[in-house]
Amino acid sequence: MSEQNTPHTDIGTLGEFGLIDRIASHFTPTQNETTKGIGDDAAVMDYGGQPIVVTTDLLLEGIHFDLMYHPLKHLGYKAIIVNLSDVCAMNAVPKHVTVSLGISNRFSVEAIDELYEGVRIACEAYGVDLVGGDTTSSPSGLMISVTAIGSAPKEKITYRHGAKSGDILCVTGDLGAAYLGLQILEREKQVFLANPDMQPELSEKKYLVGRQLKPEARLEAINHFEKSGLVPTSMIDLSDGLASDLMHLCKASGTGAFVEEAQVPIHDEARLQAMEFKLDPITCALSGGEDYELLFTVDPSDLDKVRFMNSVYIIGEMTSEADGINLHTTGGQIHPITAQGWKHFE
Ligand code: ADP
Ligand code: MG
Repeated sequence: MSEQNTPHTDIGTLGEFGLIDRIASHFTPTQNETTKGIGDDAAVMDYGGQPIVVTTDLLLEGIHFDLMYHPLKHLGYKAIIVNLSDVCAMNAVPKHVTVSLGISNRFSVEAIDELYEGVRIACEAYGVDLVGGDTTSSPSGLMISVTAIGSAPKEKITYRHGAKSGDILCVTGDLGAAYLGLQILEREKQVFLANPDMQPELSEKKYLVGRQLKPEARLEAINHFEKSGLVPTSMIDLSDGLASDLMHLCKASGTGAFVEEAQVPIHDEARLQAMEFKLDPITCALSGGEDYELLFTVDPSDLDKVRFMNSVYIIGEMTSEADGINLHTTGGQIHPITAQGWKHFE
């Protein structure tokens, strides 16, 4: 059937970001309404009036979640949140979602009810309407695809590009906890598989496990910005990890950056857990994904607006591109920060 000479390049050679760049290179927006196409947390379209932002994320069983430790209600909640987070990353307010499902006959009606209970709770908590979706059978496993739509005045929309050398780098919450929560769940799964009579001991790990299973989108930060008249110069949400997502901000903005290790917020439980796993807490903060905090930059003249903002941490500064992206360690050294993001295709 297949042609002998058809070239076959492993997707792994490009990686996720290389593949997206390759796809994007084949499409040039032609519509006047397209303000921003591929390449940010959400696309921006302006039909006159207030622009809208649109983003979509796909969650696959076995890749993004494991039903052995992701309760369906939490999963429904998380599927909505990860999309709302991308809307917030544009400094926009989420308004609508669609939810599409691929379900195998392994799932009962009650299981789907559970999933949608989580969807409903998230929609209610964030004031978002579920306005559609699609339902199809899948040969095995569960697939959830969510699209979120939001809006913001044109002058408030914040892109990954827009940071300048000298801008202050901020984050809305502590980092690394969701990754460590996942490591705990994986460990307990292995214990359970080896001995099904063993019940997981998670009560002391509530914070970390909660950060993995029930993330939140930082809509309150967007509301704070609005109240204090602050428009960040650039923003991204932390889904892949600080290192990888900071690299996206820098690449889009044509800047470098430095991060002060001592200023990176790491929860006490995350610090302890990292040490228990013999991991460096700062490595978990830099490379662990799924914290869904917002990473943003502000002009130095706006410093006072962020300095006293609840749950905003100043962690570094943007620099010129030639300076690269560096970590200033607590020991006084300067380490280049490298990041590939998560290598889905390896
Ligand atoms: P995020 O982590 O914020 O969800 P991604 O890294 O998934 O962002 O995507 C970055 C950009 O690439 C977004 O603009 C997204 O819409 C676009 N993108 C991702 N995958 C595809 C694809 N298969 N086709 C077209 N655009 C894509
Ligand atoms: Mg994002």
